[in-house]
Amino acid sequence: MERQGLLYVISAPSGAGKTTLCHALIDLLPELGHSISFTTRPIRVGEVDGVDYHFVSPVTFQQMIDDKAFVEWAEVHGNYYGTAVKTLTDACDSGRDILLDIDFQGAVQLKERGVEAVFIFIAPPSFSELESRLRGRNTDSAEVVACRIKNAHGEMQEAKWYDYVIINDDLDVALMELKSVICAERCRSRHMFPIVAQSLNIITSK
Ligand code: ADP
Ligand code: 5GP
Repeated sequence: MERQGLLYVISAPSGAGKTTLCHALIDLLPELGHSISFTTRPIRVGEVDGVDYHFVSPVTFQQMIDDKAFVEWAEVHGNYYGTAVKTLTDACDSGRDILLDIDFQGAVQLKERGVEAVFIFIAPPSFSELESRLRGRNTDSAEVVACRIKNAHGEMQEAKWYDYVIINDDLDVALMELKSVICAERCRSRHMFPIVAQSLNIITSK
């Protein structure tokens, strides 16, 4: 029996370690797909177009909004980011589980549209640690870092409506917790029973 792919939406204040955790998770569970978003943000050193993001101009992004090509999109820290409808439909069709690394505004849009997903929030252990990680990453200017830290206070308020909150203090512990959430969600009876019933040839009452 074909298993339907699950959608895992992961949000965090910038610098909390979401990218690090998602990459490590995919190393552990290589069958997981990772949605590649569209963004108008300038490409960073080390990033690859079409791998980290699809880097597009504001004009192209606006055209995609007009064409209703996004399932969600948002302005985050002064740049635009969006998930293409096609990315999700392709993932669904393939039956693959997929990670969506998006901010809370995009997550709210998916929740309000009734998209079936597991919502996971990654929190930093403290704001001072968040600041030192953002500075230590050395990818953004001082103004960009200041803007991201300022926004982090509001973003943390959103954690309360997510299904899971993981504190990324010790990376190994956070990774183990994230992997446990993914594995537990895969084992939910509503996902597994139809497969078990078919493979064991159980006659279901309903
Ligand atoms: P995000 O994707 O949430 O913006 P990153 O994954 O880029 O964050 O992580 C920000 C910085 O913090 C990176 O330099 C990363 O190596 C570091 N980092 C991530 N997780 C931890 C952790 N648990 N402890 C210490 N540093 C971490
Ligand atoms: P960064 O510029 O550091 O890569 O990402 C900044 C923020 O944009 C992160 O919180 C990230 O999760 C978010 N983001 C990345 N892609 C998307 C997307 O497709 N939609 C939304 N809403 N946010 C995104």
